[in-house]
Amino acid sequence: MNLHEYQARALLKAAGVPVPDGDVASTPEEVERIAREMGGGVVVKAQVHTGGRGKAGGVKLAKDAAEARAVAEKILGMTIKGLTVEKVLVAPAAEITSESYVGMIVDRETQRPVLMVSPEGGVDIEDVAARTPDKIFKLTVDPRFGLMAYQAMSLAFELYDDLNQVRQAAAVMQRLYTAFVDAGASLAEINPLITDRDGTVVALDAKIAVDDNELERKPAIAALRDQSAEARSEVEAREAGLSFVKLDGNVGCCVNGAGLAMATMDLVKFYGGEPANFLDIGGSSNPEKVVTALKIIGSDPNVRCVLFNIFGGITRCDDVANGIVAARSQMSSELPLVIRLTGTNEELAVKILKDAGFSALTDMDEAVEKAVQVAMEAA
Ligand code: GDP
Ligand code: MN
Repeated sequence: MNLHEYQARALLKAAGVPVPDGDVASTPEEVERIAREMGGGVVVKAQVHTGGRGKAGGVKLAKDAAEARAVAEKILGMTIKGLTVEKVLVAPAAEITSESYVGMIVDRETQRPVLMVSPEGGVDIEDVAARTPDKIFKLTVDPRFGLMAYQAMSLAFELYDDLNQVRQAAAVMQRLYTAFVDAGASLAEINPLITDRDGTVVALDAKIAVDDNELERKPAIAALRDQSAEARSEVEAREAGLSFVKLDGNVGCCVNGAGLAMATMDLVKFYGGEPANFLDIGGSSNPEKVVTALKIIGSDPNVRCVLFNIFGGITRCDDVANGIVAARSQMSSELPLVIRLTGTNEELAVKILKDAGFSALTDMDEAVEKAVQVAMEAA
């Protein structure tokens, strides 16, 4: 689950990280009022679950309240990477004298939190990693001890020469670590961490992604979910109890079991296709789940073909077949389906599908190859 910048800022602030004041608004009038109360120049920032807002025109400086309102009129309602801006953060404009990067992630290889810092802040850290990997400094944290002061200091020396700033940055890193652990985050980053006109170290942007598996035991964090800012398809899938991740390809995948779903996506790639999504309809899928799944996949305009790959164990193939038939009658588009079913009640499923005018395969390779081909021809 992603948090908005203003939410991430609040968590960092609570952990003691210096963060500028700020207030959230959803109308230009509110923005004007907040800016007037703040006085002086402000920055108006789109609150959407993506980075690169600055480049997309979603972060703008304004010299006074009137200009803040004008800027907000442009930013509110704009789309950034497919997400509509519903809210903006208004904050006093900072005067920046340097920008660096500080981030915590969970590293799969070491299975530990890793602190990453770079003096090249304010830009995409992926670009820095690609162009000048020697400008990124990493430290693996032992979760038994947390981020120790001397470790934070040694990394802070990579960012600043001034000892006072090094100390401030080290404190920011330790507090960021605390916020990261307390939120159950998989990522917590400050980009840019700036020095302002007085040389004070301040977190100007904040991004936190929370591991969904932590939400159950962290109700205060779970309450920060903003459904209006999430992809419609992902919200629907979650409500229906489906594991769904949207991807960029054109072969829709409807599979039972996470392992089979991964294997299916691999095979789609093997045959030269690109999966449009990961979707696991779960172990005991009823026909309604299949209807929802097909609706969600079908609402993606990139999808050219939907591949069903069902290995019936607890999942009964006839349930899935009934779901497909029901879903098709409710759908307006004529999206081609390639269906592969095998296992529990396979014969019954094939009969249900044949009676409804569908064909069904039992071989996985054959089905995936065909789905890729159909998608390519329709693209
Ligand atoms: P992102 O593009 O989504 O990462 O949004 P950021 O909050 O990082 O803002 C992008 C860039 O806008 C920053 O790297 C800064 O260069 C600039 N920026 C953001 N806030 C301010 C501010 O208060 N003052 C000034 N001068 N620049 C700002
Ligand atoms: Mn940023």
